[in-house]
Amino acid sequence: MIETELTDDGEIKIHCPFCGRRTHNEVGDISECEHLYYVGISETNDPMFDRGDALSDLDPDDDWPFDHLKNKLSDQFLCFSLHTPAPGTMHFYLIYEIKP
Ligand SMILES: [Zn+2]
Repeated sequence: MIETELTDDGEIKIHCPFCGRRTHNEVGDISECEHLYYVGISETNDPMFDRGDALSDLDPDDDWPFDHLKNKLSDQFLCFSLHTPAPGTMHFYLIYEIKP
């Protein structure tokens, strides 16, 4: 998985890099496109969006979803990792599938 880390300053707007659709908005509504694969927040096992049942082989006692996905997904997947500025600890991430 290719990861791009960004700081979430509250103004950041993420669009799908492949089709240009804005896949989530400020209130957390998800707008799907064919590339969107997974949307999640750190330290919860409940994804906001999960197209591929990506956590079906997660052992929740052993791994966080983000670490699991990072290890599991090939470089056919691109992840935007948004971190809240210090001292925040929230980590929001959107994963897109790179389609040929
Ligand atoms: Zn797209």
